[in-house]
Amino acid sequence: MQQIPYGRQEITQDDIDAVVAVLQSDFLTQGPMVPKFEEAVSRYCNTTHALAVNSATSALHIACLALGVGPGDWLWTSPITFVASANCGLYCGAKVDFVDIDPHSYNMCPKALEQKLIAAERFGRLPKIVVPVHLCGQPCDMQAIHALAQRYGFKVLEDASHAIGGKYKGEPIGNCQYSDITVFSFHPVKIITTAEGGMALTNSAELANKLALFRSHGITRDPAQMTHEADGPWYYQQIELGYNYRMTELQAALGVSQMMRLDAYVARRHQLARRYEELLASMPVTIPWQHTDSYSGLHLYPVRLQLNRIKRSHHQVFESLRVQGIGVNLHYIPVHTQPYYERMGFRAEDFPQAQAYYREAMSLPIYQTLTDAQQDRVVSALSLALGP
Ligand SMILES: *Cc1c(COP(=O)(O)O)cnc(C)c1O
Repeated sequence: MQQIPYGRQEITQDDIDAVVAVLQSDFLTQGPMVPKFEEAVSRYCNTTHALAVNSATSALHIACLALGVGPGDWLWTSPITFVASANCGLYCGAKVDFVDIDPHSYNMCPKALEQKLIAAERFGRLPKIVVPVHLCGQPCDMQAIHALAQRYGFKVLEDASHAIGGKYKGEPIGNCQYSDITVFSFHPVKIITTAEGGMALTNSAELANKLALFRSHGITRDPAQMTHEADGPWYYQQIELGYNYRMTELQAALGVSQMMRLDAYVARRHQLARRYEELLASMPVTIPWQHTDSYSGLHLYPVRLQLNRIKRSHHQVFESLRVQGIGVNLHYIPVHTQPYYERMGFRAEDFPQAQAYYREAMSLPIYQTLTDAQQDRVVSALSLALGP
């Protein structure tokens, strides 16, 4: 029996041809494809700058550095996210705290954020940066977060790893209308892929310049940025402590090729979500709520088990689906309950909505090449797993 994963990539002959063409070209890195991919994504999102890197984790790291996050600062994010959304603050020597989720959208709750800001202001512990995560591709309430950013003076870094191809109030997610920088991931389970890869988008030339420096060793070849005149045509200067987070030409070529199918991919995900909505209507599960004024990227499709209506436990339903060949997963284990974060003093009950979600959530398969027949198999398996 073929396993159905919760997510997977599609690689077409066009993708393969694009990558092979790069292999046969002069540049495997630092050639024309990376700027071409950046141009394709920034045009799609309507931003002035886009910087491709080797992962979203790297993009989050250099975004924090570019925004000046450092020791003594606080970064706040959602507990229901991948660990990278929080770790980027720690890389910079900052401290991390969390804002509980909204029980309907599963995104950072703007009211909880406001309350936490009011308290933090009193103790002189306001965050330097807040990282809203568009969980499953569903955009956060960016207008509310932006208004709070104006009032309390923090930077906003959107972790849109799940959300390329989605829209917030009719505008592309990633346009940075309500944030300083937005980050995408191109890991194979995400919406489009470059194998490993990420991108940071911004409308600020100054931030883009910093991101470019941190991406590549902190080195510049721009005479205007040097401390003195170039020694000669070979000359470059290291003016920051940067990293090697560059994306390869092969990855960028794959990205350019995948971008052509982005809209079709998200449209197919929406079809599948509509089918789930019908097929699951009478089952004891809560389907993901959709904003009426937004268009989710629909990277994930987490349902919440209505445990008071079934005789099986969350664990049992999960096991049963896995045994039946359905690769369900849980997005995510609340970050503050990870041992590394517990050692900083967090307790599971600190963020009760996140904990409640974690006890019931299960991501069902959703990806562009999932067929209706496979989706039907997922639904039958779920029905069996939930028990009589
Ligand atoms: C996948 C993911 C990341 C990290 O992406 P990589 O490209 O694998 O580094 C960060 N944040 C979220 C929310 C993610 O889902």
